[in-house]
Amino acid sequence: MLWKCDVCGFIHDGDQAPEKCPKCGAPKEKFKQLSDEQKELVLKSRRTNDLHMKLFSLLEKIESISTEGKDLNLDPGCVAIFGQAKDFAAVTRQKIKAELETHMHKGKWG
Ligand SMILES: [Zn+2]
Repeated sequence: MLWKCDVCGFIHDGDQAPEKCPKCGAPKEKFKQLSDEQKELVLKSRRTNDLHMKLFSLLEKIESISTEGKDLNLDPGCVAIFGQAKDFAAVTRQKIKAELETHMHKGKWG
């Protein structure tokens, strides 16, 4: 079961609500049990957010590999490939940041 603190939004996993919120200290009564539908959304969101963060780390690697490849400047073909990969990684990282920001405001972060 998932329980959400009404005061700060902290989500607790367990058979019952905690005695007090680990984050804000609100008492047990401030916790509401999430419905099955809300629980499913939280679990799916957690997994999706984890995947976004994994992808974000990989994109950081792509950016650093591409920068090194571009700087070596072997020939125009190589520089073009590394440049495109670097741009793709940078833009996709920014897209992920924007998407995660919307998740935080739409109950898709928990
Ligand atoms: Zn709280």
